[in-house]
Amino acid sequence: MTTNAEIVQRRDESVARAIAYSSTFVAAKARDGEVWDVEGKRYIDFCGGIGCQNVGHGHPKVIAAMEKQLHSFTHTCFQISPYESYIELAERLNALLPGDFKKKSLFFSAGGEAVENAVKIARFHTRRPALLTFTNGYHGRSYMGMVLSARMNPFKVGFRPFPSEVYRLPFPDPYHRVTLDDTKRSFDTLFRSEVEPSQVAAAFFEPVQGEGGYNIAQPEFIHYLRDLCDEHGIVMVADEIQTGFGRAGKMFAMEHFGVNPDLTCVGKSMGGGLPLSGIVGRADIIDSVGPGGLGGTFAGNPVACAAALAVLDVIEDEGLLERGLKLGAHIDDRFKEIASKNSVQCIGDVRALGCMNAIEIVADRETREPDGETAAYIASIALSKGLILITAGPTRNVIRVLVPLSTSMDVIDEGLDILEASVMEAESQNRRTTA
Ligand code: PMP
Repeated sequence: MTTNAEIVQRRDESVARAIAYSSTFVAAKARDGEVWDVEGKRYIDFCGGIGCQNVGHGHPKVIAAMEKQLHSFTHTCFQISPYESYIELAERLNALLPGDFKKKSLFFSAGGEAVENAVKIARFHTRRPALLTFTNGYHGRSYMGMVLSARMNPFKVGFRPFPSEVYRLPFPDPYHRVTLDDTKRSFDTLFRSEVEPSQVAAAFFEPVQGEGGYNIAQPEFIHYLRDLCDEHGIVMVADEIQTGFGRAGKMFAMEHFGVNPDLTCVGKSMGGGLPLSGIVGRADIIDSVGPGGLGGTFAGNPVACAAALAVLDVIEDEGLLERGLKLGAHIDDRFKEIASKNSVQCIGDVRALGCMNAIEIVADRETREPDGETAAYIASIALSKGLILITAGPTRNVIRVLVPLSTSMDVIDEGLDILEASVMEAESQNRRTTA
């Protein structure tokens, strides 16, 4: 039998060390919310390939759609020989996205590419240079993605120079003591001293900040931003790459706020495990760019489009939006119960929007000082017990859940038991070291 250790050693020898890894095992198989390694050990997957498997690993309908397409053709390049699955996916997304206006869509591969192209569309449409973004935001690893994203280490450090004309404002976030008034004041200062609103092309934001720590936008903030964009002709871009396709209990997280952005970036779970991203939004903005201005060789690959159509069917047929809300409420209850135990002092906050659940690990509940070390320790204990957990937040002190929405309640409860045992173990370890 090939062991995990043998393959990991080959990996260390042959793969760039910049491609970090948090697991000590090597995947061999995955189904629904479970993953097995090359030694046959089973893991419960609370990560779903970082939010790419909302309909579950290896869903038979998604696999069947991929297979069917594989036997027809795998790539023609949509710009050369178009195919119906791309067009049907655009039609379905245009119909699914709320908003009483004409919509259009276009597709790419990585989420970061969708962000990159949203910048191009907004700049072309407005003929303005400047972009707005928020603290703790994350939008990808390309140069525009990096500059729009907030975390320096390890995403940005050493990669200067960054593109200019990007301005960052505080994301209102009560737990971290940032109020909407703070944000409003920062906008006033920005427009008075750095950039005039008439030079701003777009505002990029996540309705729930994913990599930034599952910070949930306040409805008042979203409404304020919409009004501000309307007042100044700024394109409002919702990055729903992590929050979309049922993760937040709706097809798009923005449905919780009743506000229509101008452009929505999508990716991750849309492709059912294949690389597929896109932009859906106002046709008048998207169609500002003329033929040939946007695209890419592999953009909107036919196998990925076929998978995405099956993903949409599965979400609908299996009621995964309702299931996401139910699972999220269940996980939230359990997280609150764990956090309320006297023996647990490290959980400072429990947050959820739909099935985007998180616990924030702190060194001190009063000061809310983040404790990324304990969060990493909890995740490593959980992994040794067979649960894949990932962290988020500027200091990686938030444990977030991206469990496939198809996972059975029994498996979720088993994962929650492991998570609780891991928190307890980390706590007792902490108490021993501080005693
Ligand atoms: N935006 C958001 C909100 C994301 O969560 C991510 C990925 N974590 C990206 C953009 C970038 O997507 P990709 O890694 O597919 O380029």
